[in-house]
Amino acid sequence: MREVGHFIGGKQVPGKSGRTTEFFQPMTGEVIGRVALASRDELRQAVENAKAAQPAWAATNPQRRARVMMKFLELIAKETDSLAELLAREHGKTIPDAKGDIQRGVEVVEFACGIPHLLKGEFTEGAGPGIDMYSIRQPLGVVAGITPFNFPAMIPMWKFAPAIACGNAFILKPSERDPGVPMRLAEIMIEAGLPAGILNVVNGDKEAVDAILDDPDIKAVGFVGSSPIAQYVYSRATANGKRAHCFGGAKNHMIIMPDADLDQAADALIGAGYGSAGERCMAVSVAVPVGKATADALMDKLIPRVENLKVGPSTDPSADFGPLVTKAHMEKVRSYVDLGVQEGAKLVVDGRDFKMQGYENGFYMGGCLFDEVRPDMRIYKEEIFGPVLSVVRAKNYDEALRLPSEHEYGNGVAIYTRDGDAARDFASKVNVGMVGVNVPIPVPLAYYTFGGWKASGFGDLNQHGPDAVRFYTKTKTVTSRWPSGIKEGAEFSIPTMR
Ligand code: NAD
Repeated sequence: MREVGHFIGGKQVPGKSGRTTEFFQPMTGEVIGRVALASRDELRQAVENAKAAQPAWAATNPQRRARVMMKFLELIAKETDSLAELLAREHGKTIPDAKGDIQRGVEVVEFACGIPHLLKGEFTEGAGPGIDMYSIRQPLGVVAGITPFNFPAMIPMWKFAPAIACGNAFILKPSERDPGVPMRLAEIMIEAGLPAGILNVVNGDKEAVDAILDDPDIKAVGFVGSSPIAQYVYSRATANGKRAHCFGGAKNHMIIMPDADLDQAADALIGAGYGSAGERCMAVSVAVPVGKATADALMDKLIPRVENLKVGPSTDPSADFGPLVTKAHMEKVRSYVDLGVQEGAKLVVDGRDFKMQGYENGFYMGGCLFDEVRPDMRIYKEEIFGPVLSVVRAKNYDEALRLPSEHEYGNGVAIYTRDGDAARDFASKVNVGMVGVNVPIPVPLAYYTFGGWKASGFGDLNQHGPDAVRFYTKTKTVTSRWPSGIKEGAEFSIPTMR
């Protein structure tokens, strides 16, 4: 049984609050450890460490800060295999998928290596007589990130790498369901040369989160998780004067036009709908074939593919997906499938009773496929976050465009078509933040920004890419007159550049 504490001041420290929670190995259902739940005092201790270390780090030139990121990349490359195994055991996703989780985080660290260039400000020579004007970006101080269970490597790296590269100190509050990888990432940063106190990991639940939201020394909070908590964190952080961006849940649609290559579309739906057991904020959970003929032909291709999905333990390299993260989550997903049946949707593949031989206590479910789902059903409106795909049949393109546009969530969406006009019209008009054209999971690369619209994102700036640099810095604008040829006498009217 592993005991996981916190990572404060450059080292692991045991929890002192007396509160802990168990975490599991989903593929066997066993409890594999206990993670400490921080008190307000423990959070405060991390903030004190961060606050003391931050000024010297901010004064370290950006090329040296970038070199720490580069060294981190070198070190993490050497232990990707062991890190992926740890991640798969705690989360439940397969090892190849766990490697992808690490890699998508690593790509943001690579982006952060460009910080000397990214932090460059603007300069105008001769903005007025003897006057130069320039802008500089300065770090905020101590900032925090609160992250979900489903990407325990990628999302912590999305948060801390740009923040630290900008010269901030960081408090990470990862998910209590899979705490091992974030703790190891913090250690690797120290091994890469990051000064103690610049990256701290405080494990915990609502108490630790509330302590972050109320702490006057934490200047910005980035959150990723479910929408109700995202909205709560955004409201409380901003009410306390902090900068915040909070990313929430999703219901991602994929539109299949009559001219689409249906084999390609069906394969894309299978990968994007059931990969990682559907526990991805960019998972496709709604397929929208346009027209009856498209819908019927698509169902003929989908049903055998869903029936033949290979569910397996996380360590089985041939498995398509592994178990769900906890028993409670598995039961919630199953109850949504029960609800869909009650609501009158047609359950054409039922994976509720799947049992994994030899792993009877693991949190497994087979793939489920619903046809004839209607927009008024709760299984359409709400995020299920499991291996369940709903097919909503649209009569025409306009109806297909309306469905994701009018849905409460607005994270990702995709269209499958061979018609450039339709694709272009869709990408322009759909009311969703990230769009794929013949790409089922349009997660932008590290040098673009990631963020959903509507109930999928609260706040003004996205994650990673140029927005991360804007989020983790404040802009100062300097107007200087040099040499100081100041006219005699006071000027009482506002200076202008006539
Ligand atoms: P969650 O909302 O339960 O937890 C997220 C974080 O909030 C965790 O660190 C958790 O400890 C904390 N938390 C939980 N309850 C809290 C409370 N009452 N008060 C304060 N803090 C609380 O989410 P999860 O189950 O870990 O992750 C899955 C969710 O995350 C899904 O909804 C998924 O769509 C979403 N997600 C969104 C994105 C995105 O970029 N939009 C990315 C990944 C996951």
